[in-house]
Amino acid sequence: MQNMLTVDEAASWLLSRADAVTETETVSLLEACGRVLAVPVVATLDVPPHDNSAMDGYALRVADFGQPLPVSQRIPAGHVPDALQPGSVARIFTGAPIPAGADAVVMQEQCEVLEDGRVAIQKAPVGGQNIRRAGEDIANGQTVLATGQRLSTADIGLLASLGIAEVTVVRPLRVAVFFTGDELVEPGLPLGPGQIYNSNRYWLVPALMQLGCEVSDLGIIPDELQATREALRDAADFADVIMTCGGVSVGEEDHVKAAVEAEGALDLWKIAIKPGKPLASGKVGGADFIGLPGNPVSGFVTFAVLVKAFLQRRAGVADAAGATTVRYPAAFDWTRPDAKRVEFLRVRRVVRDGQTVLERYPNQGSGVLTSCAWADGLVRLAPGQAVAAGDLVDFIALEF
Ligand code: AMP
Ligand code: MG
Repeated sequence: MQNMLTVDEAASWLLSRADAVTETETVSLLEACGRVLAVPVVATLDVPPHDNSAMDGYALRVADFGQPLPVSQRIPAGHVPDALQPGSVARIFTGAPIPAGADAVVMQEQCEVLEDGRVAIQKAPVGGQNIRRAGEDIANGQTVLATGQRLSTADIGLLASLGIAEVTVVRPLRVAVFFTGDELVEPGLPLGPGQIYNSNRYWLVPALMQLGCEVSDLGIIPDELQATREALRDAADFADVIMTCGGVSVGEEDHVKAAVEAEGALDLWKIAIKPGKPLASGKVGGADFIGLPGNPVSGFVTFAVLVKAFLQRRAGVADAAGATTVRYPAAFDWTRPDAKRVEFLRVRRVVRDGQTVLERYPNQGSGVLTSCAWADGLVRLAPGQAVAAGDLVDFIALEF
């Protein structure tokens, strides 16, 4: 694994060694959003559980339509109706059970209540109209959610509609992070000569949290071999994945490579990716190790296109298959493509004349984190691929 890998080779290599966490835990529904299901969810009832009215109005037998009809009962939601007397209507409200015998609901706007209390229906009803059938949302016995699915807000609502109060989910992926560099200072502290702020921590930690990881942040580690080795050992004690930023080049001040080799095993790859540099992958004790490049733009792009899917699969997500691309027309030119590397441009979707097109951040320099903050996605260009305005290009949404 020493030679230059393509982005796709690196992505599939990472995915192939992402062993999903197998331990599970049971959580209540309100704690379940964003968690990964560990067992499928099968419905044990119909949703809705009974035929019910989709409208406020009158339930009737379609065959009785014609003369004004008397009201034989009143059915609010949550009440159990009697069978509908032939030749009558039932006053009914949205969500209320349909009385036996009725086969349509007429909305109240199409009914007139006469002085004698009978109801004149102005429009001929059609059988089944305004009736929500039992089981039309979910049928008893149906598999509703699959193992490895990350639960969305709507999924949680769906579980509640089935009467489910708790779900079995994969325990969160434990990720330890640290940041190498003697030049780094935390925001909030004054910046000394030659120092820069630790910006990587502030996009990476929230990105990991959004993915549902349990993050342990070991902070800034000095550029020393012993300190780096100790940090790796500490992290390997509890983490599933150890992530670092910086120090993975082969300079004299880059100690992460040597430290991982001393404490475990390392594959260091040059990947044909721009912006980007080496991505380090390996093992320290039982933990996976991922070393992002220190340059914030390189780290950000590498995380988006290579590491995120690895972490998702590692966290038990079944369909974590890497970044999905959509094609949009470019509203920009790119005349000097990289001949050898896949290139990721920071772009933004905008609607022009009713069509979604992509604008490019003017400065695509790898030191310009503003481009990432401005962008809502990346355009992926093959080596040598130039772009003229109007060309369809591959777009990857940045969702962290
Ligand atoms: P390195 O990979 O350690 O050689 O770092 C590459 C570049 O990224 C250098 O300019 C570092 O100062 C910068 N860098 C490394 N880590 C960070 C960080 N956590 N936040 C901001 N910049 C960083
Ligand atoms: Mg460094």
